[in-house]
Amino acid sequence: MIDWAWNGPSRVFELVRQHGMECEARQDGTIRAAYTTTDERRIMQSIAQYVRHGMPVELLSSHAMQSRTGSSRYLVGMLDRRGGSLNPLGYARGLAAAARRAGAEIYGASRVLRVRRDGAHWTLTTVRGSVDAEQVVLGTNGYTDEVAAAVKNSLVPVYSAIIATEPLPDALATTILPGRQVVYELGPLPTYFRVDEGNRLLIGGRSVLRSKQGLNSFLHLKRYASRLWPFLNGIEWTHGWNGRVAITLDHYPHVHEPAPGMLVGVGYNGRGVAMATLVGELLARRALGAKDDELELPISPIAPVPLRRFWRVGVAARIAYGRMRTRLSG
Ligand SMILES: Cc1cc2nc3c(=O)[nH]c(=O)nc-3n(C[C@H](O)[C@H](O)[C@H](O)COP(=O)(O)OP(=O)(O)OC[C@H]3O[C@@H](n4cnc5c(N)ncnc54)[C@H](O)[C@@H]3O)c2cc1C
Repeated sequence: MIDWAWNGPSRVFELVRQHGMECEARQDGTIRAAYTTTDERRIMQSIAQYVRHGMPVELLSSHAMQSRTGSSRYLVGMLDRRGGSLNPLGYARGLAAAARRAGAEIYGASRVLRVRRDGAHWTLTTVRGSVDAEQVVLGTNGYTDEVAAAVKNSLVPVYSAIIATEPLPDALATTILPGRQVVYELGPLPTYFRVDEGNRLLIGGRSVLRSKQGLNSFLHLKRYASRLWPFLNGIEWTHGWNGRVAITLDHYPHVHEPAPGMLVGVGYNGRGVAMATLVGELLARRALGAKDDELELPISPIAPVPLRRFWRVGVAARIAYGRMRTRLSG
């Protein structure tokens, strides 16, 4: 399971190449970054474990972090060259085009309203018509609704947001991320950032708990960026957006099979680009008859999150607590 999960990004880049997807994919590595001594210790411990497991990870000192991120905030980092970045919309379109070429038919804007067992098959009623199927795969993650109420109640939906600058001058882009890695912080409210193909700086993290577009709802990210790179002043921030991710209590993705011919893959804890790709393949193998011991994740029962109906209060409290700790961290 560990090797499968950590090699997920390589599988994504392989699919991108195999199907000629246009999604700005770059396997330049990811950097896990620590700015507190507690997280510094966590990174050192992780590196020791990963190295024992034969994984190609590297420790970056505070000096190396400064030259790789243009920021003096970080005490240490862990570089993993297997990671990377892509444009997720381009990837979704690339996957859809590959599926179509393989004979799939895709119907967008067809929200499923009801799923019913009808003798030997399932009937899915959508806003525009209905579909009969021998097998159903549910992959609605943070957007799972009442159609699958038990699955919905097994997840905590959380919003994550990103803002982006205008294209940066080359000198600035190469000061911030000369190696074009993706940086993600450890910490109470993890922030992540990268520079894209158009030289835009993208920085993401916590969000208001509802769907929002535009910059005004995410000014905290802009403020944090000024703290990381005071020399960014004068650069325009042009875009902001958010979306739902699904958190699980054990922080693992969940695979369920609530009835014969019904498969569920959810709960990527904000890391679904590679993990959902892997789980998609796992579910496809299961649909074709793979046995339990041929799967990298166990098929588990659907377990409700206790007191889930209070998730907004719980997530807001967690954010407030994290914000206070971030402020105290200097
Ligand atoms: C701002 C932001 C930044 C992120 N950054 C990263 C990152 O750096 N790395 C990473 O790995 N992941 C990241 N993620 C998480 C990643 O986007 C998700 O984990 C991933 O999209 C999950 O894919 P999915 O296909 O399982 O679900 P989703 O992409 O959430 O798709 C679920 C789909 O189900 C549909 N749906 C829901 N109910 C119904 C219904 N009744 N009928 C029909 N359709 C329905 C929804 O419309 C939606 O299209 C980020 C997410 C956000 C929001």
